[in-house]
Amino acid sequence: MKPLRVVVWGENVHEHKNPAVAAIYPEGMHATIAAGIRELLPAAEVGTATLQEPDHGLTESRLAETDVLVWWGHMAHGQVEDRIVDRVQKRVLEGMGLVVLHSGHYAKIFKRLLGTTCSLTWREADERERLWVCNPGHPIARGIDRYFELPREEMYGEPFAIPTPDEQVFISWFEGGEVFRSGCCWTRGNGRIFYFRPGHETYPTYHDRNVRRVIANGVEWARPQGVWIDSCPNANESPEKITPKTAG
Ligand code: ZN
Repeated sequence: MKPLRVVVWGENVHEHKNPAVAAIYPEGMHATIAAGIRELLPAAEVGTATLQEPDHGLTESRLAETDVLVWWGHMAHGQVEDRIVDRVQKRVLEGMGLVVLHSGHYAKIFKRLLGTTCSLTWREADERERLWVCNPGHPIARGIDRYFELPREEMYGEPFAIPTPDEQVFISWFEGGEVFRSGCCWTRGNGRIFYFRPGHETYPTYHDRNVRRVIANGVEWARPQGVWIDSCPNANESPEKITPKTAG
């Protein structure tokens, strides 16, 4: 089997504005997320791309050679050019996997593919998050116990305005009492999409062993299942002979 080709896309803005974020992610959040995938999927080819690069690092040729794209964005969603969103959407419909993390719930590409507002409630109160596995047989839950906890995270709560997921893998509970559908799977066209909630920039979430495991599992799950190119070919050459019908 050919090695899985993964690109971790990072908005790469908080890291340069907030010293607290830079202290946790000195090389950028995307670099830490990529390191976690490399650690757990050593056979994969894992690269990174950022908003600041030409075409946000997502040229036609780069995307053509990408099996799974991982996405972290927050304050610069509006700076992602629509022509790049079009390009990523086309590749997902063809079969490229997409793993969207945390505040990527409001990324243009996520809202485009799901077709809803993807709004939610939130609170920054340094609270504990408990992620329950609600689908123990799912490949994305492999290696995870009944639940795992993050001692400090931002809260995301329901209602989460997404289309009903095809598969639900995790549900989060927060210390303040809210719950949230924190691990969700969809298919759009031929592409698999996995949304995973944790990862607020001021917490060391992407250094967490369980979070890294879930992201790596999500990347593996989202690997292309085949290619489906957008075309409407004429089928004049039918596989069976069609008997001419006489009028009347
Ligand atoms: Zn956040």
